[in-house]
Amino acid sequence: MATQVWINGQYFDKLDAKISVYDHGLLYGDGIFEGLRVYSSKVFKLQEHIDRLYDSAKSIALKIPIPPADLLKAVEDAVAHNKKVDGYIRLIVTRGAGSLGLDPRKCEPNIIIIVDDIVLYPKELYEAGLEVITSSYIRNHPNATNPRVKSLNYLNNILAKIEAIRAGCLEAIMLNHKGEVAECTGDNLFVIKKGILRTPPADAGILEGITRNFVIDLARHAGVPFQEANLTRHDVYVADEIFLTGTAAEVIAVTKVDDRVIGDGKQGPITARLRGLFTKAIRE
Ligand code: PMP
Repeated sequence: MATQVWINGQYFDKLDAKISVYDHGLLYGDGIFEGLRVYSSKVFKLQEHIDRLYDSAKSIALKIPIPPADLLKAVEDAVAHNKKVDGYIRLIVTRGAGSLGLDPRKCEPNIIIIVDDIVLYPKELYEAGLEVITSSYIRNHPNATNPRVKSLNYLNNILAKIEAIRAGCLEAIMLNHKGEVAECTGDNLFVIKKGILRTPPADAGILEGITRNFVIDLARHAGVPFQEANLTRHDVYVADEIFLTGTAAEVIAVTKVDDRVIGDGKQGPITARLRGLFTKAIRE
């Protein structure tokens, strides 16, 4: 069976799953989204993703036309309908179709649930680690669209991603408007120095990642010393270990940043331990 996409309560074959070209999601990037994982037929951290989606909606003054509990059920239904065992879900709410102006008042939001697959990085890089650069594009200023809103406006991140690809890398570190480390284009960043795990706080201009929060919990339970801390590029360069977290990326080591080898250039022991705990937990 071809992938069936849920749009506003109805299923459509992937190729027939369409919305209006007047949708402000397309015209202006006016909308929000979530990326979720399905492991062993169960949606990982579904409630957390639903909560973040409704927070994103509230922040951009978009009223999702159904209650959170109904949307949560719709996501589960779409997974069952597609008989998905392991996969990736893209949940999108657009402002909806309106006129050719910014005014959103005539728009009726569209809700879309795509149950499919994702491969962000080649499998071998999960052993070898990633090489990344620091981007010249900053993450959104918190007084613009706050990075905590998972909005359909990813242009800064896309430009940073293009910069990374042009430099022969698959990811880029993005700094905030103060020049501190924020996150990568689609992942949160952690460093380890002298056994202490650190990651930038939510107000450093990051998406407060659900995988980030889960890995922090795993680290705490495992007795790994942890701090939320503002980081500079220097902290990144001299780290013993670095790893990234994200729903699509899961947990992946970074072994080179701007041509500086991190630690001994291999996935470090704390990263390996946390990655092991993560891999185990998602199957429970
Ligand atoms: N930062 C950004 C910019 C992201 O787009 C994402 C999600 N792809 C993340 C961090 C990781 O968040 P999560 O763990 O909730 O997927």
